[in-house]
Amino acid sequence: MKPTLPHPWAVDALRAAARVTRAVQQQRAAQAVDKADRSPVTAADFAAQAVVTAALLAHDPHTPLVAEEDAATLQAAPAAVQQAVLDAVRVVHPHATWADIVAWLEQGRGAARDRFWVLDPVDGTKGFLRGAQYAVALALIEGGRVVWGGLGCPNLVLFTPDRPGVLAVAAQGQGAWATGLHEDAWQRLRVSTVDDPRQARLLRSYEAAHTHGGLVAALAQQLGMIHPPVRLDSQAKYALLAAGQGDIYVRVPPAAKPDYREKIWDQAAGALLVTEAGGRVTDLDGRALDFAQGLTLSRNRGVLATNGRLHSAVLRALQILGV
Ligand code: AMP
Ligand code: MG
Repeated sequence: MKPTLPHPWAVDALRAAARVTRAVQQQRAAQAVDKADRSPVTAADFAAQAVVTAALLAHDPHTPLVAEEDAATLQAAPAAVQQAVLDAVRVVHPHATWADIVAWLEQGRGAARDRFWVLDPVDGTKGFLRGAQYAVALALIEGGRVVWGGLGCPNLVLFTPDRPGVLAVAAQGQGAWATGLHEDAWQRLRVSTVDDPRQARLLRSYEAAHTHGGLVAALAQQLGMIHPPVRLDSQAKYALLAAGQGDIYVRVPPAAKPDYREKIWDQAAGALLVTEAGGRVTDLDGRALDFAQGLTLSRNRGVLATNGRLHSAVLRALQILGV
């Protein structure tokens, strides 16, 4: 069944962005450049952001966009990276010029107020560089709540083992849905019905620096979990949880950065997928995620997403552990 969700153009934009990220990978042009905060960015990040922004300007030009990357970083990048961005964008927009790309990337600094789109063009850049999981993540925020969210996960397998690639979309009150990235065969997503914490499958960041591995392991032990935690990059974790292929996803600020606050573009789309699939998403203190505080979830500490049934047991275990 095909869902009739709002913003169908945004679904097409996610597919197009996923295509350009794969083009960068196929051209072996995925050279990383360090940003000011020392995190890596590649031609795929810029190209995907340019393609989604072009679609946004065509279909919803009056709603601001908050996006992770910026034109200045690309303009300072090596010529080979700039060329790879141009080549990748032209897979979707054959007549795009360098000036178009710069203009599109300059749109991504909108105000994070009232109603705005938020984009992480390549969430999980480190996963992308390893050939592992990553996601193009787009969401619409209204009054601090996510009302539409979509993920394009080119390397994720949900339905078709021989053909990786998942597109997952949710709209407030209208459920969460997914299809293979290369087809239009939508299925409604529902979280699992696991209610025994010992049987739960726990999802966590692949990167050791992005979470508190010691506390995540302690949580698994406290809950008596049989299965070892599953490590993967990006909001693909939310997609698995929404599809019932995982039961708990936890993000604990790393020991080295106990005051780390999550970026809105890293959580918005995935969080709506899980709630619309029947799950629950809060911070580690059980508070709702508040997307009305600017670029970070400054009023929230970490994230806990579950199938709902397991939520209070995990919050209790976190409290016992003093997390
Ligand atoms: P994941 O693959 O789930 O760890 O998510 C990747 C995201 O983690 C990136 O987009 C970063 O914005 C974010 N990130 C970077 N540093 C940290 C950190 N110290 N703690 C938590 N998340 C981080
Ligand atoms: Mg990210």
